[in-house]
Amino acid sequence: MNDGMNRRDWLRKLTASGVAAGLGSCAAHSVWAQNPGESSGFQSSIINSDELVAERASPSIENGRVIQPARELPVLHDTDVLVVGGGPAGICAAIAAKRAGADVVLVERYGHFGGLWTGGLVLLVIGHIVKGGGQVCQGIGEEMMRRLDKLKGAIIDRRPGVAPTVDAEAVKYLMVEMIEEAGVKVFLHCWGVDAIVNGDQVRGAVFESKSGRQAILAKTVVDATGDGDVYAMAGASYERRSHNVGLVSRIGNLDRTDASQAQGGAKPRHLGRATPVPGINWVNMHGPEVDGLDVEVLTRMEMNHRKFIWRNMQRTRSIPGYDQAYLVETAPQLGVRITRAMHGLKTITLKDLKAGTTFPDVVGVGGAAGGEHGPWQIPYGALLPTKVDNLLAAGRCISAEMRMADLVRLIPNCFVTGQAAGVGAAVAVRDGCTPRNVAVPEVQKILREQEAYLG
Ligand SMILES: Cc1cc2nc3c(=O)[nH]c(=O)nc-3n(C[C@H](O)[C@H](O)[C@H](O)COP(=O)(O)OP(=O)(O)OC[C@H]3O[C@@H](n4cnc5c(N)ncnc54)[C@H](O)[C@@H]3O)c2cc1C
Repeated sequence: MNDGMNRRDWLRKLTASGVAAGLGSCAAHSVWAQNPGESSGFQSSIINSDELVAERASPSIENGRVIQPARELPVLHDTDVLVVGGGPAGICAAIAAKRAGADVVLVERYGHFGGLWTGGLVLLVIGHIVKGGGQVCQGIGEEMMRRLDKLKGAIIDRRPGVAPTVDAEAVKYLMVEMIEEAGVKVFLHCWGVDAIVNGDQVRGAVFESKSGRQAILAKTVVDATGDGDVYAMAGASYERRSHNVGLVSRIGNLDRTDASQAQGGAKPRHLGRATPVPGINWVNMHGPEVDGLDVEVLTRMEMNHRKFIWRNMQRTRSIPGYDQAYLVETAPQLGVRITRAMHGLKTITLKDLKAGTTFPDVVGVGGAAGGEHGPWQIPYGALLPTKVDNLLAAGRCISAEMRMADLVRLIPNCFVTGQAAGVGAAVAVRDGCTPRNVAVPEVQKILREQEAYLG
């Protein structure tokens, strides 16, 4: 190495000249491995490890208690709107905020977008319609559906009044495309572990990743974690709820089964519903009602469900005519339905749904499974916490009474609350106020410009 050039400069120079081309440099190497295994064609280089280690302040044991000392955190980014969670709500929030003119950072704990929709293999999109067949989920959610329609093998049953089923990989792909088009700055593999709070104002969040513990500062934060992790850490008031926790799976070769052979004998159970991939079904699972925030419960659910799914598949394969069926995959993400519901300035209630209550601060309209309910309005106040400020919630963890939880959490309704939260956050930044002080008519105007349906 030359004098006066440190290893980082040296590596940068090599990379720029194309000599140290890595996977990102497609001109020099195919992105595919040349061999079925990884036996050749790859090399690793030493990276200056000092760069990766933030200031260390390891916990110690004092009087039998583990104590974490105070330490300064590196600031990874400073932005207008920080969206935590890249599920259906978070993706819509990030795109909506960016389209409304804000600088947006989206942070996601896993390596893909879509949340339970993709990682949880929840492929059936219920809740975009209401009694009589009217479609209430429009805006960015509907744009996603239209774009999935144009991709081969990405969606089936996309007809008026019917709940369509998607392919998870197509959704993951489309979400990357839409987030990139919008110009949202993304950090994947970042787990939000704390909120940064000044007085009662949320000013960002702290993340753990392979790069260590870092902070992202923001003028406004949207909690789209599904579990309300950010508002809980920020000190907002909420209700903790138990719900059914299952594990979704996909099974294959169903086009090679012969039900006639099984006649009179055992019948296969849990064969699920068709997906856009021929011969492959997705199999939902209800699971027991448990606390989806208890790590020991989550561990037990994963292990028990995995055993159940595998054994059920073996049983199916032992039935004449079904020996070719196989387990394609279990969802990488456990099926946690509801955990926290925020105490909001307003709360979505069954009484209001039944009465058809309208709200002056309506920012969306919710649908139902099979369209068995009429339209129910979503007030902006259901996205705003009672206690802390500068924060909006979106998706399945907003303010709704328990009887409404199963409607609020449906994927299209999460698109709707995500888009509303994103626009609310962007307007707050633009007008230099907090989300609870924004001019709601301005939020409604931008939502309509973004083709959202407000009734
Ligand atoms: C088993 C099951 C079956 C279902 N069936 C249907 C159905 O048939 N039809 C339907 O419409 N809906 C169904 N649902 C509901 C629907 O899938 C979810 O309610 C919906 O995906 C919620 O969207 P969301 O964006 O609010 O949250 P999620 O989809 O949970 O997304 C939250 C995102 O935030 C990320 N995240 C969480 N915590 C953190 C953190 N601390 N830091 C960083 N990132 C974080 C997660 O990784 C995830 O990507 C089902 C749900 C389950 C569990």
